[in-house]
Amino acid sequence: MPGKAQGQGWDLHTHSVLSDGTTTPTEIARLAAASGLSGFALTDHDTVAGWDEARDAARASGIGFIPGMEVTCDDAGRSRHLLAYYVNPAEGELFAAIEAVRRSRLSRAKEMVRRLQRDYKISWDALFDTAGDAVSVGRPHIADALVAAGYATDRGDAFARILHPGSPYYLDTLALNIVQAIRLVREAGGVPVLAHPAAVRQRQPVSAAALTEYAAAGLIGVEVQHPEHVAEWQEQIAAHTAELGLCQTGASDYHGEGKPNRLGECTTPFTTVAKLAAAAGVSLN
Ligand code: AMP
Ligand code: ZN
Ligand code: FE
Ligand code: FE
Repeated sequence: MPGKAQGQGWDLHTHSVLSDGTTTPTEIARLAAASGLSGFALTDHDTVAGWDEARDAARASGIGFIPGMEVTCDDAGRSRHLLAYYVNPAEGELFAAIEAVRRSRLSRAKEMVRRLQRDYKISWDALFDTAGDAVSVGRPHIADALVAAGYATDRGDAFARILHPGSPYYLDTLALNIVQAIRLVREAGGVPVLAHPAAVRQRQPVSAAALTEYAAAGLIGVEVQHPEHVAEWQEQIAAHTAELGLCQTGASDYHGEGKPNRLGECTTPFTTVAKLAAAAGVSLN
């Protein structure tokens, strides 16, 4: 008899209020259960602060849970996001590196607000009003402060007009070299999966050569299905991923009201989820 975890698929990429989502881990678990998902992974940016709440809420809702994190990385100046499942916070050097990324996120946000203050009446305190419970801050919180002050209609509008990388207010934040991050995730017992490699905001798909290099460093999977993917790029990525023998996942990158992405919009089948768990030495069910 198939277990409940073998039902409707898993959503392996979600954000809560601990980073830049707008719903709590408990709300994500309840929504996942109500939508008929078999389970979900919480993958807040550069923090594991939501894991305990999410695990308890998933259990109470009768669905599966995978602890995860989305690590801010780059590759020769190109932004990359790495999903890290099942990492052990006590092992290796990953968590010291992530702490440095979070500190940089905070100082970068302060400097971006300082730059914005030349043209917009927003205060640093206003950012904390909108960031609420976040332990990992980012541009979406600055976007919320701009919306609250009436300068933008929603996050998307704030990003498009004011917070995009070409804007005079924009600053990069500290990012880990992706090859090093893949190794650090493996050293921490985790399962690294490349996030949204065909997303429109990356301007071009991650190349076959880069995927090959990441696979050699220990990458286990690629998020082949994602709501923000360009269809043609996604096909190329799927083909390269299959050639390299890596796992193919799908996920929504849910951010609550912060983005149009709907929970469960893209999912991963149980057979693949079981492979990821096995790679971490964890058994599901
Ligand atoms: P940061 O890491 O601080 O540079 O901010 C990037 C985050 O902003 C990512 O998690 C994205 O999901 C989110 N983001 C990027 N573009 C948009 C957008 N147009 N609307 C809402 N959120 C966005
Ligand atoms: Zn985000
Ligand atoms: Fe991302
Ligand atoms: Fe994300």
